[in-house]
Amino acid sequence: MTQKHDLYSMTDVELEEYFLSLGEPKFRAKQVFPRLAEGTPLSEMTNLSKKLRERLEEETLDTLPRVEAKLVSKVDGTIKYLFRLHDGECVESVFMRYKHGNTLCISSQVGCRMGCKFCASTIGGRVRDLLPSELLGQVIAASRDTGERVSNIVMMGIGEPLDNFDNVVKFLKLVNLPGGLNIGYRHISLSTCGVVTGIDKLAEVDIPITLSISLHAATDEKRSAIMPVNNKWKIKDLLEACVRYYKRTGRRISFEYTLISGKNDTEADARELADLLNSYFRPISAPIHVNLIRVNEVKETGFKQGSTEQANAFAALLEKRGITATVRRRLGSDVNAACGQLRRNTANSGENKD
Ligand code: SAH
Repeated sequence: MTQKHDLYSMTDVELEEYFLSLGEPKFRAKQVFPRLAEGTPLSEMTNLSKKLRERLEEETLDTLPRVEAKLVSKVDGTIKYLFRLHDGECVESVFMRYKHGNTLCISSQVGCRMGCKFCASTIGGRVRDLLPSELLGQVIAASRDTGERVSNIVMMGIGEPLDNFDNVVKFLKLVNLPGGLNIGYRHISLSTCGVVTGIDKLAEVDIPITLSISLHAATDEKRSAIMPVNNKWKIKDLLEACVRYYKRTGRRISFEYTLISGKNDTEADARELADLLNSYFRPISAPIHVNLIRVNEVKETGFKQGSTEQANAFAALLEKRGITATVRRRLGSDVNAACGQLRRNTANSGENKD
């Protein structure tokens, strides 16, 4: 069988080339591209002839994710989606409403191979990378389902985005296209556990998104104990890459710090973190921000959450040392919004049935 084409992974220009290759006029791309971005199925594109629609359905892969399950938070309206992909795999996205617009947290891989000890997404390892169309498709599907525009994207769902570099960069270009979803780069954040080669490559592609680094510890000993990636790239390697990224892009860098009770959440940890960050970013006057997250308890990991008061005290200690820090508000706490938990639970219930 010849390989099927993936329309949602194509830019408007690539779509024009595809139609030309079918012997169709170039302007077909203008008829189709915006409709794909709305999530209109090919069968409903009545601005095309029935014959062309049928040909497209036959020759292309339907990579738009389907809503497999949907949990709506009673507390704040946050929606957690479990999306089914064309090969039967599942990923999660979370739709959050903020004053400044709707934010969608998307997944970048099916599973993850980074092995962070506190994270549910990595438990079964990495199954596969998501295609550009499947990254984009999460945004399209959530927008179509809610009837609302997604104005901000955070790549903080399942997977390590810099472990799927080419597809992620293609997605970032696609989602930014004016004739498509037209989401500005400044409204997109990408979170990484610290893939240094990926950070350097990202600095070179000239896509001014916000980089977010999952740091979670201020010493190599503590970080390596919870994040295996730290055995490959030490904190020094990671922060030096952040300095290069800042020098090249001028963009503020965010740091994620998950507070785990008894592991990394003491006053001494806060002081060490502040001193560490100040030693790299003060000399170059680089703006940074620390997001503190109280760990979401995942059954399999056994890590415990500390109190809100302790998290606030940790933030205050950072502030005192000149580092802006916020304790992340937890949206959707009643819908299992911690990354990877819904997919895991689905997998577990499948196992239980056998
Ligand atoms: N792989 C990327 C993005 C996915 S995870 C990364 O590591 O940054 C998004 C964020 O959630 C990361 O900061 C990650 O470390 C954090 N995270 C994962 N599991 C968590 C848990 N159980 N509780 C709190 N934060 C968690």
